[in-house]
Amino acid sequence: MTRVRFAPSPTGMFHVGGARSALFNWALAEQSGGTFVLRIEDTDAARNRPEWTEGIISALAWIGINGDSPHFEGPYFQSAYEQQHREAAAKLLKDGRAYHCTCTRDEVKARTGSEHQGYDGFCRDRGLAEGAVRFRTPDDGVTVVEDKVRGRVEFPNSAMEDFVIVRGDGSPLFVLANVVDDMEMRIDRVVRAEEHLSNTPKQQLLWEALGAEPPQWAHVPVIVNEKRQKLSKRRDKVALESYRDEGYLAEAMVNYLMLLGWSPGDDREILPWSEMMPLFRLEDVNQSPAFFDEKKLRAFNGEYIRALPLDIFVARCEPWLDPSWDRGVFGRVAELAQTRIAVLSEITANVDFLFLEEPAFDQASWDKAMKPGAAEIISGYAERLETVSWDAESLKAALEEVGAERGLKLGKAQAPVRVSITGRTVGLPLFESIEVLGRARSLDRLRTTLT
Ligand code: GLU
Repeated sequence: MTRVRFAPSPTGMFHVGGARSALFNWALAEQSGGTFVLRIEDTDAARNRPEWTEGIISALAWIGINGDSPHFEGPYFQSAYEQQHREAAAKLLKDGRAYHCTCTRDEVKARTGSEHQGYDGFCRDRGLAEGAVRFRTPDDGVTVVEDKVRGRVEFPNSAMEDFVIVRGDGSPLFVLANVVDDMEMRIDRVVRAEEHLSNTPKQQLLWEALGAEPPQWAHVPVIVNEKRQKLSKRRDKVALESYRDEGYLAEAMVNYLMLLGWSPGDDREILPWSEMMPLFRLEDVNQSPAFFDEKKLRAFNGEYIRALPLDIFVARCEPWLDPSWDRGVFGRVAELAQTRIAVLSEITANVDFLFLEEPAFDQASWDKAMKPGAAEIISGYAERLETVSWDAESLKAALEEVGAERGLKLGKAQAPVRVSITGRTVGLPLFESIEVLGRARSLDRLRTTLT
């Protein structure tokens, strides 16, 4: 039974790339009846914040990764294991696999003549009893990382400096803490972002030096934007929380994220977790960068929204409806809205005209629709509305007539009426909207537009 882990550092909002790694791990745990360990790597006190830890935990829970599942274990906090990290360093020192070093950066630079040379091994055999701790890397040969995604990757040992595992102040570095925790938590597969591949030969050496069998590695490809730039929190919308808060459905998000670097091997793209999870294989994960296509994500979300049973859709819209809005009235247009929105938050602008005293004013819509002749259409239609029988079909026929009298097709005649009634040029089907709004309020809006 596999034990995988997801080990985020709480230094910001929860990145969609992190969510994708978490889901890959989650699939492996679920499909094998194994365990997914959540470990918060909170050792960088200067950059960590408790609200980011909370954010990660709640965003993971949102996409289905939480303690409700028997496959979930944690969260553990790396800071609680500092004792183990120190003990591991002590063991490496005792075994001669690591040594103390007091060199400053400037000293190394002065000796090697370069900033980029790496450590020159000056303290290797000095037998110091204090200072930072460096791992003694092999002088020759290669360290081979067998990676499930990247294949066999070779790192010449001569290019690997004796790297620091404990700082001069006694605090362990990521490269060590991460390994010790994985050992402690009996992790047998490490699936993480490609950016960590350069740490992997070092970590593999640490595993071996600490007398344990390294895990099976898998480094999943970077995620890029449409300019093929690595997705960055300064430039791109990367926070899983922002997608949630905008009204993306967790199911759609999960589906979309799983396809960043992986596919089920056929043409299907829209498939629920229960179908994807058993199909997921690390061997099928791509090496090439995965394009995060927000438009495609939107399209996925729209599909998932349309597939919801109506009552569930109505319930999911709730956070975007003002408490004062009549839910009975909303119920009459919910089905029409369901086929038209791609993100739940869009529901507000689609239905607000039914509840507001006056429709929201949108200058662009107004300019587009209120062309010369618009007033005659509105007044002509208002006249008909006083007597027309009150159903969408008759309401439509009436506007067709008003348009025809002026040589206009329905599409053209609709625009000013739609803006007068709803405030916008796009939205729910117009005649159903007018029917639900009612005669008095519709007439009132048309007349107000004319004044
Ligand atoms: N805390 C590291 C990160 O957030 C985890 C790396 C790993 O998964 O080993 O990038």
